[in-house]
Amino acid sequence: MLPYGRQSISEDDIQAVVDVLRGDWLTTGPAVAAFEARLGEVAGGHRAITATSGTAALHMAYGAAGVTRGDTVISTPMTFIATTAMASVLGANIVFADVEEDTALIDPDAVDALIDERTKVIAAVDYAGHPADYDRLSAAAARVDALVLDDAAHSIGSTYKGRPVGDLADLTTFSFFPTKNLTTGEGGALVAKDPLIAQRAHEFHFIGLVRDADRFAVTTEGAWHQEVHEFGFNYRLDDIACALGLSQLARLDTFRRRRAEITRRYDAALAGIDGVRTPIQRDDVELIRHLYPVRILDQRRREVFDRMRADGIGVQVNYMPVYWHPVYADAGYRRGMCPNAEAFYAEELSLPIHPELTDDQVDQVVESLVRALR
Ligand SMILES: *Cc1c(COP(=O)(O)O)cnc(C)c1O
Repeated sequence: MLPYGRQSISEDDIQAVVDVLRGDWLTTGPAVAAFEARLGEVAGGHRAITATSGTAALHMAYGAAGVTRGDTVISTPMTFIATTAMASVLGANIVFADVEEDTALIDPDAVDALIDERTKVIAAVDYAGHPADYDRLSAAAARVDALVLDDAAHSIGSTYKGRPVGDLADLTTFSFFPTKNLTTGEGGALVAKDPLIAQRAHEFHFIGLVRDADRFAVTTEGAWHQEVHEFGFNYRLDDIACALGLSQLARLDTFRRRRAEITRRYDAALAGIDGVRTPIQRDDVELIRHLYPVRILDQRRREVFDRMRADGIGVQVNYMPVYWHPVYADAGYRRGMCPNAEAFYAEELSLPIHPELTDDQVDQVVESLVRALR
């Protein structure tokens, strides 16, 4: 099966991991610090904190934002469920805003219509690698003193109006799962613009430990002392993973170029084909295309999916609207609430795209799609 996404591991990546295994630190050592420093630079010059997954990073983001029972989080249904699940576990009420018909990104008009004083966070997702409209979302958030979160699991390395992902929202989360734009195996990170929120996120992922003597409530103890003010988790990413991440980050431009070449090849090959709509890109963004989501028209998506899978092409569907999951449906969320997202889901098919996909394989995918449509 030709997978829809997969990692690209170089000899340098392997050597970076081996070097950690031969060294003194397996976790919370120099590779963590180096990866976080470099990530922060790539993400607009803000503090980055690594985490054991993108899901953990989302939990840290909502925790550091102070999301709690009774707060509202406005988000998009066109995402992986972790985007909203990590706010739900903190007791937030999730309000789903519909997506734009063409980009499948959260629609700022829908957000404007839903926002109120209880809104704590607007959580956007850069679906397929394409940044959402952060100028509009930030303006909406500012009116009610909410924060904007960018779930950038798909979009590390993309830009919006010349600014990099990481600089677009108050909080940005990444995933380094093997199918994403760069990998650490499991892994993720959070970037926060406000240093105080960043520090809260750091403590949230480090069992809640406070190590800053100026903040100690217990002042009778010696130099060994550390203390906990709020409960936290252990979401620390280790040096083995961070060494791989740092090495991968150096290859991000290469990954971007190859993903762009594949995009152009698909765009050209599929331009004249009936029954398929190719993805669009707004003029004010540059992207690392994480997914290549085509739309299969005339209610033929399931048939085309099955035929291509039978052909050995690992097509995927991203995503079922989040509120269709039983955990939300059982809580009273009803189908029909976000018609653009549901229409998009009914037609969406993700074609394989990753840095090691060859031109021949791209052509093979196109031929399989054309055959399936016949
Ligand atoms: C992959 C992904 C996540 C979760 O990341 P993990 O590292 O798998 O926990 C969250 N949101 C989106 C949009 C994703 O694609």
